[in-house]
Amino acid sequence: MSGRHDKEKGVNVQVLLRCRPFSDDELRSNAPQVVTCNDYQREVAVSQNIAGKHIDRIFTFDKVFGPSAQQRDLYEQAVVPIVNEVLEGFNCTIFAYGQTGTGKTYTMEGECKRSKSGPNGELPPEAGVIPRAVKQIFDTLESQNAEYSVKVTFLELYNEEITDLLAPEEISRVTLEEKQKKQLPLMEDGKGGVLVRGLEEEIVASASEIFTLLERGSAKRRTAETFLNKQSSRSHSLFSITIHIKEATPEGEELIKCGKLNLVDLAGSENISRSGAREGRAREAGEINKSLLTLGRVINALVEHLGHIPYRDSKLTRLLRDSLGGRTKTCIIATVSPAVHCLEETLSTLDYAHRAKNIRNKPEVNQKMMKSTLIKDLYGEIERLKAEVYAAREKNGVYIPKERYYQEESERKAMADQIEQMGSSDRNPAEG
Ligand code: ADP
Ligand code: MG
Repeated sequence: MSGRHDKEKGVNVQVLLRCRPFSDDELRSNAPQVVTCNDYQREVAVSQNIAGKHIDRIFTFDKVFGPSAQQRDLYEQAVVPIVNEVLEGFNCTIFAYGQTGTGKTYTMEGECKRSKSGPNGELPPEAGVIPRAVKQIFDTLESQNAEYSVKVTFLELYNEEITDLLAPEEISRVTLEEKQKKQLPLMEDGKGGVLVRGLEEEIVASASEIFTLLERGSAKRRTAETFLNKQSSRSHSLFSITIHIKEATPEGEELIKCGKLNLVDLAGSENISRSGAREGRAREAGEINKSLLTLGRVINALVEHLGHIPYRDSKLTRLLRDSLGGRTKTCIIATVSPAVHCLEETLSTLDYAHRAKNIRNKPEVNQKMMKSTLIKDLYGEIERLKAEVYAAREKNGVYIPKERYYQEESERKAMADQIEQMGSSDRNPAEG
């Protein structure tokens, strides 16, 4: 139940805890279990031996998913309501936080790469939050017979540099140096937010198209991983889905409702405490940690009601600023391992996640736009791009690289097409 009440007091960030089952290796080595989940009571108990004494620490969360919880359980209990809110015009963010190897990627992406959807468009049981959310979005939009558009972006943040996981292929073959040049800058959007310059925005028409994109994106992430020496544990990935839905007022005015879902697979939380010690690579290590460290500082500042919230100190917190103390509805899924060898990290994850429960956001539904205003905005954007392209051509402005020039030309063209499409659907309302 959201409403006026939420708006004034804010709502707490929702924090869920998921504990994965023992891995085969852990089972073989008979690793003792130190984490016990009580899903029903929403409690997690961690047993420790301190100076020969047995101590249980108990944490309570908004929801707890023990080792036997399936992907579907977590999705239906925790994510379905979030996606419904996105479809109502809210912005929502889900973060996966935890030590490497505890199931962040399993929870967010799952293992449905090859199999894709089954005969009736059913997903395999191992499918994670992203494919399920995509399916729910398209199923709902199609059943409502709505006129809509769905756009996705997929990026990776590593070492404070942004890589587009949906950018056209060639990139995987270039050298590291060249790859570094492909980093995309983060810029103010003039409306209090930020945007990633040149980020590929794919318009998708069906769930299966998104699966193909997702597969391409995560394959790219994996290629980069072997290439850059296990960077995935140190990189964050952000998959965003933006939905525009057309509605008509009783007066016949066309309105556009907009909602956005951000799905974030964070870097391994162990990177906060451990790396950064080695001499020669101190700067690199520092940069690697910067976003995760800043995320922690932002959470602290919000929880302690400090005046200054250091959003601007890292790219991750700049990108997701609105998800932390802003107008977005936010959920954190903290993941842990049941085994004793992870005990220290498990406790640190539980403390971190428990603390994040105190963050309050003030979710606000996005204002609906009049279609005419949206078109006006798009024309404004075209003018801006035109001016940049012109300046580049005349060399009397700021030089932009060839690549960006082509990028902007194509953006401009895509936008012009979009406007044309809107215009034609105005003339003939039967068309999409
Ligand atoms: P992370 O992204 O946090 O580093 P992964 O998602 O890669 O961790 O998970 C590590 C391994 O554990 C993978 O092989 C994954 O399939 C398995 N795993 C994680 N969570 C679960 C779960 N809830 N059920 C079954 N297997 C899991
Ligand atoms: Mg992972």
